[in-house]
Amino acid sequence: MVCLRRLEEYAKENNIPIMESDGIEYLTNYIKKHNIKNILEIGSAIGYSAIKMCLVNNDIKVTTIERDEKRYLQAIKNIEDFDLKNRINIIHDDAFNIELKDTFDLIFIDAAKSQYIKFFEKFKNNLNNNGVIISDNLDFHGLVNGDYENLSRNVKGIVRKLKNYIEYLKENKEFSTEFISIGDGIAVTKRK
Ligand code: SAH
Ligand code: MG
Repeated sequence: MVCLRRLEEYAKENNIPIMESDGIEYLTNYIKKHNIKNILEIGSAIGYSAIKMCLVNNDIKVTTIERDEKRYLQAIKNIEDFDLKNRINIIHDDAFNIELKDTFDLIFIDAAKSQYIKFFEKFKNNLNNNGVIISDNLDFHGLVNGDYENLSRNVKGIVRKLKNYIEYLKENKEFSTEFISIGDGIAVTKRK
């Protein structure tokens, strides 16, 4: 039998950073409440959040991009197990190589944390006029607002980039953002 619990366990055992439970609950409730139908996700991992979003309603379609081959193959398998092949279009590539013509009600940014401004800039034109961009992991396990000094250089770099992204959203003239302390920190961004 296929079940979401098994995906959650697989992710835990293999250190795959899928969304935290209250974060994914917020996201799926948002989709339901705002009647969202077309979703673009940057960063599929093993397909967990794409499957969760798709299961909100049977007329929802998700396009999702994953660059890591092993995770992509695992995602394909999971999507097939859930019988969602006809509603989830998974692309195996680096998101920066992809040009999409479609527009979406929701763009979910959940890939490399140091590239969020670039993802936002690249895909904002694929957002419907009244669409929303949701970004995950803005707290980065509490590190964005925590003690900075003892972190490794690599983690410091990510934290600094996430802070830049938060500033970028706050100062954005075209978009306004609500920051929500749920899961690992979520930003909800809409056109002004
Ligand atoms: N959204 C998933 C978790 C994604 S984890 C869930 O909650 O279930 C982030 C994923 O983004 C990783 O698997 C990583 O390989 C992928 N990724 C990072 N940078 C990327 C890029 N530039 N293009 C495509 N995928 C990327
Ligand atoms: Mg995430």
